[in-house]
Amino acid sequence: MSQTKQAALPVIGFIGLGAMGGRMISQLSGAGELLVFDTDAERAQQAAQAASGHAISKLEELSAANIVILMLPNSAIVDDVFRGGTQKGLIDILPKGALVIDMSSSTPANTIENAKLASQRGLVFIDAPVSGGIGGAASGKLAIMVGGDRADFERARPFLERMGSNVILVGDVGAGHAVKALNNLLAATIFAATAEVFAVGEKFGLDPAVMHQVVNASSGGSFMTNIAWPKAVLQKTWDFGFALQLMNKDVGIAMSLIEATGTETILSKASAKMWAEALGSAPQGSDMTELAKQIQKGAGL
Ligand code: NAD
Repeated sequence: MSQTKQAALPVIGFIGLGAMGGRMISQLSGAGELLVFDTDAERAQQAAQAASGHAISKLEELSAANIVILMLPNSAIVDDVFRGGTQKGLIDILPKGALVIDMSSSTPANTIENAKLASQRGLVFIDAPVSGGIGGAASGKLAIMVGGDRADFERARPFLERMGSNVILVGDVGAGHAVKALNNLLAATIFAATAEVFAVGEKFGLDPAVMHQVVNASSGGSFMTNIAWPKAVLQKTWDFGFALQLMNKDVGIAMSLIEATGTETILSKASAKMWAEALGSAPQGSDMTELAKQIQKGAGL
C-alpha cells in the first residue's frame, strides 16, 4: 500500500543550489522524490541532505523527472542547461510532458524562446522568479511572480506555494521575468536617488540618522529607507544581502525591455549607467549598497 503511494510521488529536479536555491529546496522536502544538481557538487550534497533528496552528478539522471526547477545565475546559464551547449540539455533529456519552472531572474526574450522550444518537444517551460531574498527563501515566504498558461500555473502552484507566501500569475510566459526586472529597476532607481539625497543632506550638515528618521516618516520614505538604510547604509556595514552584480543584472534586463518596447526613459537610463559604473569599480562580491558607499565617497564624505 505504502509502495503504491510512494510511486505516485512526482520526481522533482532542482538545479542551482546557491544562496537562494540552497534554502528554497528545504521547503520541497516531502513533495516528491527530489533530485538536486549543481556544478558545485558539495552544494548539491548539502542541499540534498537538508531536503532529504539525492544529489545527482549529471543532468541525464533527470530523464524521469516530472518537474524541474531552475535557480541559476542568469539566462545564459539557464539556456545552456535547458537547450544544451556545454553539455546535453534538459530539452534532450526530459520525458514528454515534463514541466520546467525557471525561478531564476532571467531575460524575458530568452524565456519566451525557451517556452517555444519546449513546446516543440512536448515539454512545458514557465517562469516563476522570486522576490524576498535569502530570508524569504529560508522561511518559505518568497513573493513568486509566474508567467505561463493558467493550467501550467495550476500544475506548478502546489510546489511554488511551499516556497512562497505570495504566488501570483502575472501573465503569459516571460511576464514573470519582465515584472521582476522592472520591479528591481524601480527599487534600484529609488535606492540611487535616496543615496544622492542623503549625501547632499550630510554635506549640508544634517545628521544622517536624524534625516533618516524624518524621511522615513515622510513622503520620501520607501522600502529602501525602511529596510536598507538602517540595516546597511546608516551603520556603513554595506551588507544589505543582495549582490551588486545581481542588481546590475536585473537593471540590465529591465533596460532590454525598455529597448524592446521602444520606450523613451531618462531616469531609468541614468540609473542603469550608475549601477553599471558602480559594478565596474567595485571589489568582486560587493553588496548592492556599494552604490551608496561610492556616492558618499564621490561627495567627499
Ligand atoms: P548563487 O550564485 O548563489 O547560486 C547559483 C548556483 O547555480 C550556484 O550554486 C552555482 O554553482 C550554480 N550553477 C551555476 N552554473 C550552473 C550550471 N551550469 N549547472 C548547475 N548549477 C550551476 O545565486 P543566487 O543568489 O542563489 O541567485 C540565483 C538566482 O536567483 C539568480 O538568477 C538571482 O538573480 C535570483 N535572485 C537572487 C536573490 C538573492 O537575494 N540572492 C533574490 C532574488 C532573486
